[in-house]
Amino acid sequence: MKKITIAVDGLSSTGKSTLAKQLAKKLHYIYVDSGAMYRAVTLYAMQEGFIENGEIAKADLIESLDKIELKFVFNTHLGFAEMFLNGKNVEREIRTLEVSKNVSQVAELEQVRTKLVAMQQEMGKEKGVVMDGRDIGTVVFPNAELKVFMTASPEKRAVRRYKELLDKGENVKYEEILENVQKRDYIDSNRQISPLVKADDAIDFDNSDVGLDDQFQRIYEHALRIIEK
Ligand code: C5P
Repeated sequence: MKKITIAVDGLSSTGKSTLAKQLAKKLHYIYVDSGAMYRAVTLYAMQEGFIENGEIAKADLIESLDKIELKFVFNTHLGFAEMFLNGKNVEREIRTLEVSKNVSQVAELEQVRTKLVAMQQEMGKEKGVVMDGRDIGTVVFPNAELKVFMTASPEKRAVRRYKELLDKGENVKYEEILENVQKRDYIDSNRQISPLVKADDAIDFDNSDVGLDDQFQRIYEHALRIIEK
């Protein structure tokens, strides 16, 4: 069967990774969470003391980029790959609100994007990949056969993310999460390099009122139509 590339982009906390994982599982494709890579670079910068009160020591981070080794290691138990930063599993640490608060400023840096985009293109060069992020359909894989652009109201997204973080035992406030998703959307959409925009040929998908199964079924059918063409 023909293998395609599937790009899932969209606003923060729209469930891109949930959809992308479902598609990858069903199609036996590789799933790549590109956001995890930006998060891992951000965690590195925080650990090295390059971020103080939201201010990034950009030159220090850029100079250290060669020291950052990122790797996805598949966890057969969980059924998806986890992010390793310089040999250490950081899957939990990169999902904290602290990392979310700093990641969009790190993702604005040209040198960071150049490094990560090259890695992403390498991972997807054989096709048979579902990658989620912000610039996958526009910059990383502009020729992807299927592009989905996900949106939902800020409040719905904040509620979902709030519940997720509470379940993980993080002590967070709903208002703080709402502010974070809105702020990240703003920075991601307005940055100079590879801003978050819908690719012209992407399917617009507002999932504010769509259940997970329904959402998966609709996009999966799209994918099958393209694969079987
Ligand atoms: O997908 P996730 O919300 O984990 O991504 C975290 C952040 O990483 C985004 O808010 C964005 O700033 C950055 N990002 C990006 N380009 C991507 C994926 C993520 O700039 N392809």
